Amino acid sequence: MTTLLETRGLSAGYGKLAAVRDLDLHVERGEVVALLGPNGAGKSTTLKTLAGALPPLGGEVVWKGEVTCAPMHRRVRRGLAYVPEERSVFMDLTAAENLRVGDGPIEKALELFPELELHLKRKAGLLSGGQQQILSLARALATDPDLLLADELSLGLAPLVVHRLLEAVQAAASRGVGVLLVEQHARHALAVADRVYVLQRGRVALQGTAQEILGRLDEVEQTYLEGPSIAAVTDSPTSA
Ligand code: ATP
Repeated sequence: MTTLLETRGLSAGYGKLAAVRDLDLHVERGEVVALLGPNGAGKSTTLKTLAGALPPLGGEVVWKGEVTCAPMHRRVRRGLAYVPEERSVFMDLTAAENLRVGDGPIEKALELFPELELHLKRKAGLLSGGQQQILSLARALATDPDLLLADELSLGLAPLVVHRLLEAVQAAASRGVGVLLVEQHARHALAVADRVYVLQRGRVALQGTAQEILGRLDEVEQTYLEGPSIAAVTDSPTSA
């Protein structure tokens, strides 16, 4: 396998407050890695930092073998795709226009999600939550990324749509895309993941193969019963 993304002792957060500490993780080409944990554990903060939307507070992000502090647009040019937690479609644009503002060809998006064809002329704001999420994922995958960072794809969606989205994620991995999937619903993620990290209060509490973590679901659930914490750190950001 080839390592696409690695973090070494990464601290991440807001201002001087670290929501994530000492994080060591890696994502290889062609694997789905799930990042699980309760509300406030630091999953979205981790993803934002890996996407280049937040500067690290300490430690390193290594992207394709090089330590990076590059902003998001540069990481995107080098093969990263990011689907943030908040729906990232332009509500006043049609589905077709939303696909055109992406970096990938619309044909590729439709090849991956033919069901979007029916909605191309509709304003994204008039699509269902599931259709909007499909549109976001289609736009991200149409760029033919090396790495997909996806935050809570399943949030508030019906099981059939969740299945469709996760199936597309798994298909992308089988084409060689590395995927880091943030999920609050452990069972959704474990259905498609190869490996898993469980965050609790900003630190890795459990990690292993999906098979191993499936056998330790009671421990995963235990982490969900504990609350978040934020702590001040003094580490200085690393430079690229
Ligand atoms: P959820 O599953 O609820 O989305 P999460 O695991 O993704 O949770 P984060 O959103 O990363 O957790 O939040 C981690 C911590 O950082 C929480 O304590 C949260 O309150 C705090 N936090 C998140 N966003 C900000 C922000 N913009 N400014 C300050 N603190 C924030």
